[in-house]
Amino acid sequence: MQFFTDDIQALQEKVEDKISHIVKRIERDVDYNQAKVLQAFQQHRVSDFHFADSTGYGHNDIGRETVEQVYATAFGAEAALVRPHIVSGTHAISSVLFGLLRPGDELLYISGKPYDTLEEVVGERGEGQGSLKEFNISYRWLPLANDKIDYPLLQKSISANTKIIGIQRSRGYADRPSFTIAEIEEMVTFCKGINENLIIFVDNCYGEFTERLEPTDVGVDVMAGSLIKNPGGGIVRSGGYIVGKEQYVTQISYRVTSPGIGSLGGAMLGTTRELFQGLFIAPHTVGEALKGVVFASAILEELGFETTPFWHERRTDIIQAIHLKTPENLLAFCQAIQASSPVDSHVLPVASPMPGYADPVVMAAGTFIQGASIELSADGPMREPYTVYMQGGLTYSHVKIGILSAVSNLLKINQG
Ligand SMILES: *Cc1c(COP(=O)(O)O)cnc(C)c1O
Repeated sequence: MQFFTDDIQALQEKVEDKISHIVKRIERDVDYNQAKVLQAFQQHRVSDFHFADSTGYGHNDIGRETVEQVYATAFGAEAALVRPHIVSGTHAISSVLFGLLRPGDELLYISGKPYDTLEEVVGERGEGQGSLKEFNISYRWLPLANDKIDYPLLQKSISANTKIIGIQRSRGYADRPSFTIAEIEEMVTFCKGINENLIIFVDNCYGEFTERLEPTDVGVDVMAGSLIKNPGGGIVRSGGYIVGKEQYVTQISYRVTSPGIGSLGGAMLGTTRELFQGLFIAPHTVGEALKGVVFASAILEELGFETTPFWHERRTDIIQAIHLKTPENLLAFCQAIQASSPVDSHVLPVASPMPGYADPVVMAAGTFIQGASIELSADGPMREPYTVYMQGGLTYSHVKIGILSAVSNLLKINQG
């Protein structure tokens, strides 16, 4: 069986040879993170009975308590909330903010303009109903200087009202590099040097298991993420997590459920097993996604496209940006990814207007779990430089098939 032309296969082999040392490095990191997660399972003596279901109030659910302890240990934190009731990454982040901030407090984001969905949480965009602003909680974000933290500006910007320092680890869909664990550690040291009571919060979406350490290993007080991204391993159907210092996680639990209930309630409705299994497999899945984006970056660079990060750069998230130069290329790329998906491969993506975006957006995702970006997906706004953002992939082979189809499409439309 031959799926691609001889030329494309030759290109694949050339690129695989070129990136082999990076692939090996990723596999070493996967080995490390797999051992780390395994040890957390063993330390908390995970057993078959932990997978049993809970109903109603969900009181005395030892499975839920144990999966949260395993998360806390794996992330080098004191406590965790890991819940299918947390709808998404945005819900997890917003629970942290509402759980810890009080009227008069300020939230200061120091890593540049945050992810789009945060704007409605803080009350910068939309009706403002239910936002932090409505509770008289103020918010500012600091621009970067040459893609790095502007420390002099940060020094000046921390006020007596500043309670939470917000850091977004991943670039998301912004045009800046993602922040490594080493850089996050520097930020923690700097901010705690100014005021040790500041709460350092990290939006860890897309970052989990891409490095050997996590933000909570290097002094971050609390962090949050989505279970349909990295830590769910492609298995978890819905949910979010929050990990950090016990006092903060407890306070946040009163927001996620209710004062008086906190983390002690919440029926798991049969999801506990997949939370365990997803975390166990997550280092591997993240490794597959990482190999996939390295392959994509290298092969597209081979064809003359600019990519960020470069294929050989150290990564701290699973996102790859590729500047495709023309609207035809962006569309052809996304259509190839869609056509290579296990689900909805027969659907043809087209550019269409999206609420909150100035330009039409084209999106490709044929995933088992709706919106799961740990599965192979690609999208981009129809504007210069026609950048496609791609991420995820449950298996390296699948990412290669998607990318080789995209490359075939690009070569076809750019011939002659
Ligand atoms: C995905 C993501 C979020 C949250 O998005 P949801 O779609 O609500 O899960 C927040 N921040 C970053 C950087 C993200 O990548």
